[in-house]
Amino acid sequence: MPPLLSIDAVSKSFAAHRALAEVDLAVEAGEFIALLGPSGCGKTTLLRCIAGFLTPDAGRIRIEDDDITHAPPYRRPLNTVFQSYALFPHMSVADNVGYGPRRAGAGRREAQERANEALALVGLEEMGTRLPSALSGGQQQRVALARAIVNRPKLLLLDEPLSALDLKLRRRMQIELKHIQEKLGIAFIFVTHDQEEAMAMADRIVVMNAGRIEQTGTPEAIYRAPATRFVAEFVGEPNLIPLEPAGPGRARLALGGAELPAASGMRFAMARPEDIVLIDGSVPDDVATFPGTVEEVLAIGPLTTLFVRCGAAVLKVARLGMSGAELAPGSTVTLGLRPAALHLIAE
Ligand code: ATP
Repeated sequence: MPPLLSIDAVSKSFAAHRALAEVDLAVEAGEFIALLGPSGCGKTTLLRCIAGFLTPDAGRIRIEDDDITHAPPYRRPLNTVFQSYALFPHMSVADNVGYGPRRAGAGRREAQERANEALALVGLEEMGTRLPSALSGGQQQRVALARAIVNRPKLLLLDEPLSALDLKLRRRMQIELKHIQEKLGIAFIFVTHDQEEAMAMADRIVVMNAGRIEQTGTPEAIYRAPATRFVAEFVGEPNLIPLEPAGPGRARLALGGAELPAASGMRFAMARPEDIVLIDGSVPDDVATFPGTVEEVLAIGPLTTLFVRCGAAVLKVARLGMSGAELAPGSTVTLGLRPAALHLIAE
């Protein structure tokens, strides 16, 4: 079976600006994909090429065996949810959702039944008779979702659909959207520039930068084993410790002392803030230690981050809860990390 969606070497330029440069991506049926990257990296351009609102300059887009590169949007077995919900203000919620089936030729009763079914899926079965203006932002977003899934597309494209919501509602909708997606079994491609949103929802994350895909992988792979410095810095907070050569196949951490196996060309060892511990007592054999001075303490409740100077580097050290919050700037500490567990990055 071919993948649900295959994107092969798709490029798109606007005048002299190359918005997409030979992008390849395969999406399987039922997958939740997040397209993640900074503003202007080409996420929306890619989504618009898939939807058919833009035509690539080169490359091919297929749904299963069908080449849809030049097919008009309405011929594609997919639908799009935009940031602005664009509901019809004068139509009831049920009529908004039933509009799609009606246009596709369903009779009034069938359209109504399918609208009710879609509204039930998003938890709004009681709200069919209301006007969109009588709904909260989160409820309007769910109506937009119901409207997009009512014709059962194979693939749903979502362009920053939660960005208009406040943070708490956004977090709740992330969980809800994930559950709805699992229930539907429809593949989602979700554009976001919010790394936490991508981590929380996606089966796989596609990290984009300047029109190219930097890395595609599970949230865990992206977080633990970023392919490039860009990915390491875009997703989470990395400590990038420079490496110095220490003989064939080995490198030394520039913090002082500790050596580790490293292929030539590796420039940094990455430690996430939670990989570095404060040593207070005995030290296991495989842990390297470094003296440091606390420069800053950031305690936000569930997490405390210490900024600790070790020579030329300032390392971020994360601790659960308020542990470490009592350390005053200027305190001396001993940091520990396992060199063998560090992830190495070439560029
Ligand atoms: P954001 O998160 O800000 O929406 P994005 O990753 O979705 O960013 P795109 O909208 O895909 O970025 O834009 C990619 C690049 O192409 C940007 O530099 C943008 O200015 C440019 N671009 C997009 N659409 C057009 C257009 N119609 N005409 C000219 N340039 C465009």
